[in-house]
Amino acid sequence: MYKCFSFGSFLRKSFSAAFLLLLCAVLIFSACSVFSSAASKNSEKPVPLPVLMYHSVCSKPPSEYTVTPAQLENDLSWLSTNGFTAVSAEQLIAYTHGSGELPDKPVLITFDDGFYNNLSIVLPLLEKYDMCAVVSIVGRYTDDYADADPHADTYSYLTWKDVSELTDSGRIEIGSHTYDLHSNTGRRQGCARLPEETVDEYAAILREDIGLLKTELSQKCGIIPTVFAYPFGSLCKESLPVLRDSGILITLTCREGINIITRNPECLYGIFRNNRSGLLSTEEYMERLTKDIR
Ligand SMILES: [Zn+2]
Repeated sequence: MYKCFSFGSFLRKSFSAAFLLLLCAVLIFSACSVFSSAASKNSEKPVPLPVLMYHSVCSKPPSEYTVTPAQLENDLSWLSTNGFTAVSAEQLIAYTHGSGELPDKPVLITFDDGFYNNLSIVLPLLEKYDMCAVVSIVGRYTDDYADADPHADTYSYLTWKDVSELTDSGRIEIGSHTYDLHSNTGRRQGCARLPEETVDEYAAILREDIGLLKTELSQKCGIIPTVFAYPFGSLCKESLPVLRDSGILITLTCREGINIITRNPECLYGIFRNNRSGLLSTEEYMERLTKDIR
């Protein structure tokens, strides 16, 4: 039997067909947007990032780990004149998580060990050249030595109050350089694992040390560190899981080289740095620092 034409059924079928077509169009459009956004993220050019590593800045004769205030000022002036812009750890973390952009020719400036001169000498120079930096402190130095010291530029360490003053400036972020593993004179080199330690034993020791400084920074200065600088650059593969667990998003090594920053947060683990020896002129040091990006 032939089915009779029903106008109602025709309308229902037409609407269903139109609805299906619309749904397909929406799905295709969404898929295209996702692919094109992924493609544009993937096609973003990786950003080269030189990282400078300083320690003490004072008027003592320059050495491998000490520069004079004039040398630091020359360096900052050179960076500024040559078009480099200092970026913060926060900017780098945001960028790798997909937000914000990095300036042309970014650099990260770091200072290790937490010397008082990072406040008395470095901060005014950063202000003068409109730059920022990361200062990685050793908790034990701040607890045991800083308060008893007379705030001498040549050898004193930062007190907790000084640390707060640095962060209040908005130009300095505080990193962890361990609470009490900044030694290479015993069997343990920095925070590296001893051969006879099990992974669990090692993890417990490192976790406790990192936790101590994290707690003190939080209670005394309201800071949660996201940057960790390996003492003496000594590292082992077992340290990273512990550091990740304690909220560290950037690890700084002493291996020299240029970093390639992408939209992948993993690229911030194992950052290369170039030690700024006071025995080099600004030009010699900058030549080494930027040789791979010229
Ligand atoms: Zn150090």
